[in-house]
Amino acid sequence: MSVSARGELSTCRRWVIKLGSNVLLRKDRKGVDRVVFASLVEDVVWLLEQGCEVTIVSSGAVALGKSLIPAERYKRGDIPVLQALAALGQPHLLRLYDEEFAHYQRLVAQVLLSRGDLDDRKRYLNARHALHRLQAMGVVPIINENDTVATEELRFGDNDQLAAMACGVVGGDVLVILSDVDGVFDVSHDESGGRVFGDRIGQAGALDEYLMQIAGPSVSGVGTGGMSTKILAARKAATFGVSTMIAPGKRQGVLRALYEGADVGTLLTVDGAKDVTGKKVWLSAGAMPVGRIICDAGACQAVMEKGASVLPVGVLGVDGDFTEGDVIELVNQAGERFAVGLAVYDGESTRRLVGAHTEEIMERLGYHVLDCVVHRDNLVIST
Ligand code: GLU
Repeated sequence: MSVSARGELSTCRRWVIKLGSNVLLRKDRKGVDRVVFASLVEDVVWLLEQGCEVTIVSSGAVALGKSLIPAERYKRGDIPVLQALAALGQPHLLRLYDEEFAHYQRLVAQVLLSRGDLDDRKRYLNARHALHRLQAMGVVPIINENDTVATEELRFGDNDQLAAMACGVVGGDVLVILSDVDGVFDVSHDESGGRVFGDRIGQAGALDEYLMQIAGPSVSGVGTGGMSTKILAARKAATFGVSTMIAPGKRQGVLRALYEGADVGTLLTVDGAKDVTGKKVWLSAGAMPVGRIICDAGACQAVMEKGASVLPVGVLGVDGDFTEGDVIELVNQAGERFAVGLAVYDGESTRRLVGAHTEEIMERLGYHVLDCVVHRDNLVIST
């Protein structure tokens, strides 16, 4: 389902809620903001009592790790050090959730994911099934990135992206990103080019280009986020038809207020209901392309506007050594990605089909699977 107005949040059954480090930590960053944390957990329990399923995506492992040992014992910015700090902080993070939810006789479960876990459709489905089982058992899953094993290529990059992908995995109805800001603010520039913040934007289309212009750089305190990563996450969620709410996590009773339709935060909506299910959600949410097909303008247009398959005649070039069924990206002549799909032919065969008419496929390859190189049923438009 897709939410098109804030009053509709109460119709959402599956909530994916992302909590940033800046929400969890006190202003001095030396420990958890107990008041805020207790209020958020109370709100989550209230949502559960309304019949909602809640999946939490929580940052805070690195930040808590840092708060546990003196700064002279780690060097800043070094990835293995951050991974070590995440390993140190993660059990403390889970203990916090465990203890707070225990006040309400609720159980939590830890789910650590790395990007590579969702690339493969089988592993993606394994995660999906396990998460659904946890929900069925009445247990609240707390997801974080498996920071210790995630190398640069296997990282989600930040927990905003992880939350968007988690939303695809669990089939979320709404993604709520709780942050230390009140929402997305209008930005203009003064004479010297400085950014001047205007009013909070109550609602906008998630794919609205204007949002990217006002998002600003992606750094915020102890988290790796910032507004641009939140907007990118909303765009990702939009590809499988899910609207995103960016809201102030430190505000008392914020989740309940959102459920009740209060004018809080910024709602980033998806236009129209999107019919994206099953494999297509995985393609949007998890799959990492291993090759690419460069398409001419006609093929780009046919895919984007008519939801067509990609025919060899519209292919200008092929990169990568992929096999049949691998995930590949479709790019235009400028190299910009516009869709992701599954390859019908392997990389070598697809290369031999560049520019071919349908009736030439047999002749060029000596075999024929389908008339297209990517079928419309296995293809999703990217943002
Ligand atoms: N996984 C990281 C942590 O738990 C946070 C990454 C992020 O917030 O973007 O510390």
